[in-house]
Amino acid sequence: MKKLRIELDTEKCIDNRSCINIDPLHFKSKDNKAFLKKGAGKGNLQVLNLEVSDQEAEKIIKAASSCPTNSIKVIDVQDQKELVTTELKQDNIKEIEAKYDDNKEFVLDPAGYFLIRINKEKKLIEVGFCNERNKLVLKIVGKKPIEVYNEIVNKEKLPIRKDHCAYLGRELQKAYISLQENLEYIQDEELKFQ
Ligand code: SF4
Repeated sequence: MKKLRIELDTEKCIDNRSCINIDPLHFKSKDNKAFLKKGAGKGNLQVLNLEVSDQEAEKIIKAASSCPTNSIKVIDVQDQKELVTTELKQDNIKEIEAKYDDNKEFVLDPAGYFLIRINKEKKLIEVGFCNERNKLVLKIVGKKPIEVYNEIVNKEKLPIRKDHCAYLGRELQKAYISLQENLEYIQDEELKFQ
């Protein structure tokens, strides 16, 4: 058995729910924030002290470690040791001011290219993939970017470059925002908010 103290900073939570998916016994979602089931606290800090089996402790640690915003701290009460820390290590940081010149640095992915548009009537993002000029070999439609890129990257496993994956994510998010905000979507152009 292990005595643990869990601290959850709800202010930092972005509600991606990975802690809840991993450990629904101790984490829940409320008003677009994660909370500790049976936790107590004031303001942003939720606290839960509990005694759990080694197996349960492992699950709590896994859930807390999955948090992308370091919102969950787990402390071993007996050893006073932080099993999952919320401190961000900042020694030896490499800092870069990002720059990119499309005219000089753009290189076409030899695997192919995407054609992306939105269907406002059906509220769908439509993506075509050409593996050579004007040769469409795949069409994917979806409501959300994650549905579309999951099909392309994980299921269809298109052999596209990393920068092309990033490009796809950016364009899909722009297409999604256009559908939500009733904007015009033109691939490769900035969205125009008025
Ligand atoms: S993993 Fe972190 S950000 Fe995601 S819901 Fe849990 S506390 Fe919030």
